Amino acid sequence: MNTLEPNLIKEYFYCHNRLIVKDLQKSFNKFIAIGNIYDKSNLNKIKLGNFEIDEIDYNNKLIIERKKRISNFEGSKFQLLYYLYLTKNIYKNFSGLLIGIEDNKKYSIILTQQKEKELLIILDEIKSIMLRGKFNNNLLIESKCRNCGMYDFCNF
Ligand code: SF4
Repeated sequence: MNTLEPNLIKEYFYCHNRLIVKDLQKSFNKFIAIGNIYDKSNLNKIKLGNFEIDEIDYNNKLIIERKKRISNFEGSKFQLLYYLYLTKNIYKNFSGLLIGIEDNKKYSIILTQQKEKELLIILDEIKSIMLRGKFNNNLLIESKCRNCGMYDFCNF
């Protein structure tokens, strides 16, 4: 199974350079190390490395992810698709529910075969970008970079 630290998916959608400027080695080691994805003593909790899935709703067959605000929709969507992918043999026929608390929005997320293919391509791309470790100057876009926590690093 293709595994990596879930937050890298959101970084990928925000800016590929964030995969480079973040603590590359630590994150890279993590995606190799993640093996045990759930805590058998508490089936309501699924742990992925340092991450914990917010809620499993058995009655409605839902894996629920809550965000304060959904500012990076594609990143959040694929992160939830990734949870569905990792747990598909444990939680059969579950779908995802993405909730933006302050936005007061709910999105139903379903791991179709097509979405799984897209997800696997993204996971491979993330690994390639991290392994290559090359900063892409073309991604420096003033409007986006201004709000980015990596700005000082990138704008040297
Ligand atoms: S400062 Fe700009 S180029 Fe650097 S990681 Fe952020 S968004 Fe990407």
